[in-house]
Amino acid sequence: MDASGSGGSKPPPPPFTAEHEELRQTVRRFVESEIEPNVAEWEERREFPRELFDRCGELGFLGLKFPDEYGGQGGSHLHDAIWVEELSRRGASGGVGAGLNAHTSIAMPPIFNFGDEWQKQRWLVPGISGEKIGALGITEPGAGSDVASIRTTAKKVDGGWLVNGSKTFITNGVRCDFLVCAVKTTEAGGHGGISFLVLENDMDGYEVTGKLEKLGWHSSDTGEIGFEDVEVPDSHLLGQENCGFQLIMANFAWERLLMSIGAIGAMDRLIELSIEYSKQREAFGRPISSFQATRHKIADMATSAAASRALTYDTLRRFEKGETVIKEVSMCKLLTQRALVKIADEALQIHGGYGYMREYEVERALRDARLGPIGGGTDEIMREIIGKNLGL
Ligand SMILES: Cc1cc2nc3c(=O)[nH]c(=O)nc-3n(C[C@H](O)[C@H](O)[C@H](O)COP(=O)(O)OP(=O)(O)OC[C@H]3O[C@@H](n4cnc5c(N)ncnc54)[C@H](O)[C@@H]3O)c2cc1C
Repeated sequence: MDASGSGGSKPPPPPFTAEHEELRQTVRRFVESEIEPNVAEWEERREFPRELFDRCGELGFLGLKFPDEYGGQGGSHLHDAIWVEELSRRGASGGVGAGLNAHTSIAMPPIFNFGDEWQKQRWLVPGISGEKIGALGITEPGAGSDVASIRTTAKKVDGGWLVNGSKTFITNGVRCDFLVCAVKTTEAGGHGGISFLVLENDMDGYEVTGKLEKLGWHSSDTGEIGFEDVEVPDSHLLGQENCGFQLIMANFAWERLLMSIGAIGAMDRLIELSIEYSKQREAFGRPISSFQATRHKIADMATSAAASRALTYDTLRRFEKGETVIKEVSMCKLLTQRALVKIADEALQIHGGYGYMREYEVERALRDARLGPIGGGTDEIMREIIGKNLGL
């Protein structure tokens, strides 16, 4: 079964074209041959090799949506969507997707969208080739959902900024070469007092203070970083001073949409695995797929996946056309992340005791899925945004 509904001779589902589907096949082959066989070991080691960035850069996957002049493929967000969906669909862990996509989809876009030419040459170009790894640093020990309350300060000094504070939960935070970092550039901070500075890991006073152990996403590194009198030159200010909040908001839309697309890929895989397993596992002398309870579970999973796909693809199509889709993106994230947790839980139930075991993908999928309703803005925050956009 092709749960993506896009294989064989069927026309590609909108917004995708035949060209996107070609890319889908290329990414699928890459994931099956170069990621899937290694994932278990990388999860165990708590990180995937740095060379995977180089390899993805070499194959053009890190620059799908960026212009050729920076080493990209000159594609669009739709190409990135295919990449993310396939990366999550077939055997790749949430951790591999998180590490690669934190780099391509939350750290590099602000540099492309708000950076000047010098900044693009310094971080975007080596980022696209995989030579330098990026991370986005917003969250702090005392500021998660309430991003405007960050406390890391950047004090203006001659020729630059003096940064003090700390960040936590930063994907790629342990090994990133550059950190796109939210800092307070006024005494009051808040919506009108946040800016972005790009920090580099070899600056004096920049220190990785921890690597976090997590429920899921084991193969991605999640770091804590401290800053003590880090001198950051003026040339590292991204966009306008005190306009960082707009940058955060601009970035969230794509991050949340991508998380939704990733969830769809993972759902397909779990449904595939559940169908396959239920046909070959026997109980009481017959395949468990012959029990109505199993069939109904899988029917519910497939229905939930189809609804998730329909809303997400429709929002992606509108996002790509340049429409304002804040409410819809929040709906996508709210719907898909919870739906994936439920689907992974049902898939594990269908697999019985074997589902609970390490060598079966479903155990990892359930753990990995649980971050979805938290990271990139929690379910509760998505509901707040949707409510506000409904005039409540
Ligand atoms: C594995 C992992 C990777 C991450 N990667 C990154 C990264 O690369 N960069 C980065 O900057 N951050 C990253 N994060 C941080 C992530 O974005 C935050 O965890 C998330 O924004 C939630 O913040 P918090 O954990 O501090 O929860 P809190 O904000 O403390 O929330 C705790 C609870 O209170 C609820 N709550 C808070 N405010 C409200 C409200 N107004 N109304 C109702 N309920 C509310 C929340 O919904 C939640 O249920 C990552 C987190 C994890 C776990």
